[in-house]
Amino acid sequence: MNKQAIFHEKFYEEYTSDPAADSGRMETIIKELNDFELIEPQSALDEDILLVHTEDHLNRVKKIREQIYPVALLAAGGAILASEYAITEKQPMFAIIRPPGHHASPEGFWGFCYFNNIAIAIQKLIKENKINKAVIIDYDLHFGDGTDNTFSKTSKVIYYSVKGSDRAQFISNMESFLEKCEDIDIIAVSAGFDRHEDDWGGLLTTDDYEQIGKILKKSAERMCNRKRFAVLEGGYNHAVLGKNVRAFINGFY
Ligand SMILES: [Zn+2]
Repeated sequence: MNKQAIFHEKFYEEYTSDPAADSGRMETIIKELNDFELIEPQSALDEDILLVHTEDHLNRVKKIREQIYPVALLAAGGAILASEYAITEKQPMFAIIRPPGHHASPEGFWGFCYFNNIAIAIQKLIKENKINKAVIIDYDLHFGDGTDNTFSKTSKVIYYSVKGSDRAQFISNMESFLEKCEDIDIIAVSAGFDRHEDDWGGLLTTDDYEQIGKILKKSAERMCNRKRFAVLEGGYNHAVLGKNVRAFINGFY
């Protein structure tokens, strides 16, 4: 069976003028995954968005950003579908989606984000009693303030933004955090590639992403019956983004 990932051709469209929406960005990833079967998500429903965001927030995205609302619903739908594969098929899944989500809080958005895709997927699994407790690992260059704000008042979801001053420390910090996790039902990953040595963060190598994927896979096998999924966040250098996504998936699947 071919390897699978979640993607929709609508994600090719340049919906606004920020680096996440840049033309060519999705193409570099899909080109690299040319042997993958791509699975199309359905758009999330407003009621899914409201699992995380306020009605005001939803209405603002609808009204102010008319061209963004439909693609943002589709991105959230991609995260939801990836989480369902992880739970139902016990199959790891990567969702190649945009706009990204981890800077979208219940009542606010910035940083190229509108709806918090990963938070919506996790809240939906909780609402449907498919999981009790989740950990979200975020290795993007930037702190996912939106995800952190969403789950700051619950112990059911632990948010961990990986930090480290050098490559070895970055990876070992993530590994030791995961070793301490208990009673987790699923690992969700905010997969941002803007910390690569040729991207904004100037730190990690392409091989490091494979290593990160392997550690997350091993942790999911140890603590939550292999259940894991990842969604795309940042990553802006089109010359390396596709290779980095592929490297991560090689380790993660
Ligand atoms: Zn970022």
